[in-house]
Amino acid sequence: MILTRRLLLGGAVALSVTSAPAFAQDKGLIGIAMPTQSSARWISDGNSMVEQFEAAGYETILQYAEDDIPTQLAQVENMITQGVDALVIAAIDGTTLSNALENAAASDIPVIAYDRLIRDSANVNYYATFDNFQVGVQQAESLVAGLEERFPDVSPWNVELFGGSPDDNNAYFFYDGAMSVLQPLIDEGRINVASGQMGMDVVGTLRWDGAVAQSRMDNLLSANYGDQEIHGVLSPYDGLSIGILSSLKGIGYGSGDMAMPIVTGQDAEVPSVKSMIAGEQYSTVFKDTRELARVTVGMVDALLQGGEPEINDTETYDNGVLVVPSYLLEPVSVDLSNYEDVLVGSGYYTADQLQ
Ligand code: BGC
Repeated sequence: MILTRRLLLGGAVALSVTSAPAFAQDKGLIGIAMPTQSSARWISDGNSMVEQFEAAGYETILQYAEDDIPTQLAQVENMITQGVDALVIAAIDGTTLSNALENAAASDIPVIAYDRLIRDSANVNYYATFDNFQVGVQQAESLVAGLEERFPDVSPWNVELFGGSPDDNNAYFFYDGAMSVLQPLIDEGRINVASGQMGMDVVGTLRWDGAVAQSRMDNLLSANYGDQEIHGVLSPYDGLSIGILSSLKGIGYGSGDMAMPIVTGQDAEVPSVKSMIAGEQYSTVFKDTRELARVTVGMVDALLQGGEPEINDTETYDNGVLVVPSYLLEPVSVDLSNYEDVLVGSGYYTADQLQ
């Protein structure tokens, strides 16, 4: 039987309702709440999930909230009202969904935290993500490798630190992972943070906003780098790296005798891979969103069909109320030496997309 549902979700909220193909089973309706379409990775996440849920016999509602917390809350509430059988949520602010999730629990709707932990709620069943601490470790290891390669005779290296959004639990894991590599080098005087700005409370970047990172970089440069050069910047996300690089280029880095500092990133977004190929951004961290979708669809399918979701971590992700059983995927550090193998070889991008 072909099932078509008409869903009335009001206003200007972007909506994509898919109906299952004729041959698929009608296994249920899944609500997928994603943070924003302003970053390509979340578009890939959403598309991969719709595709894979459909292939497994589910219908989906996929919505993006353009980084606006009340919009995401309204979208989740609406999905509950529409009678979804499960919710998959990549939260904008990991702490603001508690009331909505109580309503989900009251209707026996299981909730999967997707990529970002949902905090302060007992009503989170599972968490599908990457090893977020390891992402930070890879960023810092690549930063140090780049510093050794580009500035072998400089000591100490001048480095500035950027963090992700303070309302995103992942941001702390990325930062802590990176500092597990950088702090010993700072302590032994090999790395100097000339601004002295350290700690997520000072280096965080609200909503992962590239323009905010760019203007902080402008300020760091004008206040601390009048008479000395900067050699590296820890950036936790490609969208921030683009802003940081514009700031650096704006005062001449990457031209003449001013070597481009080593700038890291995350998500292997196309503009940043192109920037790497052009010799600007040094590295990024690839997180295969197809794999994250696969794990998530598997979890939901197990929950709804009476199976056991696959997990590989029951210790790391305490959300303030419970330790959420998790599946952690492995991130992959990418730079000029391996981007073709990892990104094109895996079919994530075509060679043409990176031209
Ligand atoms: C994700 C990263 C992403 C960042 C900004 C984090 O929660 O894990 O992959 O770069 O959000 O969107």
